[in-house]
Amino acid sequence: MSFCCPLCCHSSLQVTEEVREHLKTPIFDNWQWEEAEMLVLLQVMYTDLDFMTAFHIELDVLQNFLFEVYCHYNNIPFHNFKHCFCVTQMMYGLIWLTDLRNKLSRIDLLIMLTSALCHDLDHPGYNNVYQINAQTDLALRYNDISPLENHHCAVAFGILSKPECNILKNLTCDQYKHIRGGMIKCILATDMARHNEILNKFKVMQPVFDFTNKDHKEVLMKIMVKVSDISNEARPMAVAEPWLDCLLQEFFNQSDSEKLKGLPVTPFMDRDKVSKPSSQTNFIRFVLLPLFTELTKLFPCPRSLDKGSNREQWLNELQKYEDALNSGVFRKSEEKGSQNKCSICPCSKIISLEFRLINLEISMSTDVCTLKI
Ligand SMILES: [Zn+2]
Repeated sequence: MSFCCPLCCHSSLQVTEEVREHLKTPIFDNWQWEEAEMLVLLQVMYTDLDFMTAFHIELDVLQNFLFEVYCHYNNIPFHNFKHCFCVTQMMYGLIWLTDLRNKLSRIDLLIMLTSALCHDLDHPGYNNVYQINAQTDLALRYNDISPLENHHCAVAFGILSKPECNILKNLTCDQYKHIRGGMIKCILATDMARHNEILNKFKVMQPVFDFTNKDHKEVLMKIMVKVSDISNEARPMAVAEPWLDCLLQEFFNQSDSEKLKGLPVTPFMDRDKVSKPSSQTNFIRFVLLPLFTELTKLFPCPRSLDKGSNREQWLNELQKYEDALNSGVFRKSEEKGSQNKCSICPCSKIISLEFRLINLEISMSTDVCTLKI
């Protein structure tokens, strides 16, 4: 039985100039698009970055590749094809926004975009800790070392090993080796257990960062994929919030399974302990903010405001918000509503705070609704 590739049916779909331009911005709203349309938009990204001509990629091979990627994402709440699209689109937006086209080679851009596209292939919806604790096939195969990320990467190169999907087939051996090495590094870097290690490396390089230095470039590429992977909260609220619900649903599925199987329960996934606001505050404070702060040092905005005082102001607001959380103000309002639904929606508040920070710190625009990194 053969399946029709949605790209074949939609490849004639007209992507207007307006959509093409909008696709280059980090405010793009994935919820407005069907998955088949997302496949066409992915094709636009490869085309508009000139990958087709630079790497002699045939259109039908790219379409087969994208369709295979689509087929290898599972129908799970968060780590699905829509997440793949969002991460790839954020990477695409960042490439344009930070003018990386003029700072990195075309081959490095291909590595970053394709790594983003493949970074969660065949994700089962249960994280590495679960894989290891449950001694799953993946944990056994990869000796407990980033089992998921190793798997995502292996699936990616499995797809590329099919001649009809191999977008790298017209490259030289050296180019192929470079891309394979780069993609493996970028995809393995998305293991959050390695977050601090990679961020610290980037911090050390920051004052002397050199775009011609191979090691520096390599860390930057990892950071860009990581930023894209966890950038939902940096999108407009209407885009970001449904994603948080998807993530919590996947987390709760895991903790339910852990309880059922008698495995250690991952605290931040426990439906009895986690609330939307608390998960957001910690994530933004300890993961997102430090990462974005480092990135803005490398891509400063000439029009940015007085960073020091604004940043302080923002952190004060975050502190006030946390105090309110701890005093139970939000908890009480949550209890009134249905489970995990906060009636006054503090998660929206924190996301909007984050938003403002991004605008203050990274702003390239005075429009508060426009995220700029
Ligand atoms: Zn991801």
